[in-house]
Amino acid sequence: MPVAAACDLNQQVYIGVSLILDVAMRTDKGVVREQNEDAVGGDPDTGLVILADGMGGANAGEVASGLAVDLLVSQLVTDRRQAGDGDGIGRQDLLDAMQGVNQAILELSQQIPEYLGMGTTLVVGVFGERCLIHAHVGDSRLYRLRSGLFEQLTIDHTLIQEMVNLGDFASIEQALLAGVPTNVLSRAFGSEADVEVDLTETDTEPGDLYLFCSDGLTGMVTDQEMQSILENQRLDLMQQADELVDLACEMGGIDNVSVILVRVMPSDAK
Ligand code: CA
Repeated sequence: MPVAAACDLNQQVYIGVSLILDVAMRTDKGVVREQNEDAVGGDPDTGLVILADGMGGANAGEVASGLAVDLLVSQLVTDRRQAGDGDGIGRQDLLDAMQGVNQAILELSQQIPEYLGMGTTLVVGVFGERCLIHAHVGDSRLYRLRSGLFEQLTIDHTLIQEMVNLGDFASIEQALLAGVPTNVLSRAFGSEADVEVDLTETDTEPGDLYLFCSDGLTGMVTDQEMQSILENQRLDLMQQADELVDLACEMGGIDNVSVILVRVMPSDAK
């Protein structure tokens, strides 16, 4: 069943009797902010997960991230089902839908004065049989834990990351020391007529664990701390999602915190 924006969820996805994916999502406004401008959603049954981190005055950020999630679900799941399109979601479907999100946010922000300048990040995953298409714009991230290796699969679209990419600084740490701010996005939905989306297709392996998250997590919790929670076998997937959010809040929770965890189940899982 498609999930509306801003829902917490834990769902197992079966094909026949085989458990193939375990999905947990959680979003929280954190400790300091009064509103939650993040949104999570998707349609685990078709392997679709979406995380958005909105920005803008008043409740505009919330509107932008919610619109992004809802629009992607309706274009990639609901509309296709109604049209009887049984094919999986492809790369071009995803790119087209993400451009549609950009247009919709731009149009709404031009129509309603309070929404002027609103925008959102997006990180989206489409899990198929033994593969994952992931796409993102902004600083919401995707990580993968595989055989003890915890790796960031996305590269942030931020000023600080672009300066490192261009060779202005040798590392993020050096740019930080020079006073470059971390929170300036170089790409987002809702800022220009065309947005460049980074899209990658990769193989998945049984046992892989994927973490989609907003910068409210990565700004508060180190990669090592994230990895140790994801490697804690005493916790089920939803508990791991809760632990990540709780730790971000304990460390200050200055921003909204969202996580989506997707475990690719071993083929003998029931
Ligand atoms: Ca944020």
